[in-house]
Amino acid sequence: MIIKKRSAQLNFLGQAALKKRLDIGHFRFNEVENNYFRSKAGVSGEDFVDQQLARYEHPETHFIIHDLHLKASSFFQIDNLFVTQSYALIIEVKNIKHTVELMQNPHYMKQTNPEGKVVIMDSPEEQLDKNIIWLRDWMLRRNWFLPVEGVIVFTNSDSHIIPNNCKYDIVRPRYLTKKIRKMTTSREVLSQEELMKLGEEFLLNHREYEHKALHAKYNLNSADIITGVECPVCFEIGMKWSKRKWICSNDHSSKNAHLQTLDDYFFIFGPEINNTFRRFFHIKSKDVVKRMLKKMNLVEVGKGRWRRYRKLLSK
Ligand SMILES: [Zn+2]
Repeated sequence: MIIKKRSAQLNFLGQAALKKRLDIGHFRFNEVENNYFRSKAGVSGEDFVDQQLARYEHPETHFIIHDLHLKASSFFQIDNLFVTQSYALIIEVKNIKHTVELMQNPHYMKQTNPEGKVVIMDSPEEQLDKNIIWLRDWMLRRNWFLPVEGVIVFTNSDSHIIPNNCKYDIVRPRYLTKKIRKMTTSREVLSQEELMKLGEEFLLNHREYEHKALHAKYNLNSADIITGVECPVCFEIGMKWSKRKWICSNDHSSKNAHLQTLDDYFFIFGPEINNTFRRFFHIKSKDVVKRMLKKMNLVEVGKGRWRRYRKLLSK
């Protein structure tokens, strides 16, 4: 049973919004594009694991939580948590191609492509170490004495993994459920009722992750970003508002193309928009802007020239 679904797609959607609004010649473009592809691979890797977990009929009472964001000594985020009456299992998912070597002392992950190019990345082993400690601390503080374990899943079949001395099991997605089956023990630490209570406590303490606005992350200012409404058909940016609809230079029209553009804006500049709206959406008329903003399900904050429109937080 999945008691909380995934929101990790947000990262991917944000990178996609920024990538299409940055000029190909911009000095940050390559970095943004690389992160875009990395987040895209992340999303499809997690999808793979979700399918495996959903397909398998777990014999034990359990729950699954995705993207759990809790506070122990500091905030920590767990992408996949599988909890039974006997243990909690943190599932760390990686979707990486080519030869991947897990290094210890110090921890890092080394990817080598067929041409010999090496890329260094954060170690999933170290990530698991930290998350296990934080989750254990978090539970102990609330008098839950459930063992916490970890497993690393490499989803890309075009990869050769060298684990070295990695202390966690490394599996392919289709063996994840086998690994879970092997962990099944008769020693139940929690009753079924307690397990459900723990699940509720996780959800109650979950803090929605505040995505940092991308302009801050990449140190960009508004002049770096391509403005204008994107055509939903040909993806040209810079549609014109005329007679209550958007029209692109290829004559495609749309009544609500500005909604996607507003999402792009929020990803790049954070969850508020003010009088920058007219410039970003290429609209001259204040009245048109006013009418549009009213219809967009935003919260009005402040008065007069300080008025801003804030995005509603969604669960
Ligand atoms: Zn078009």
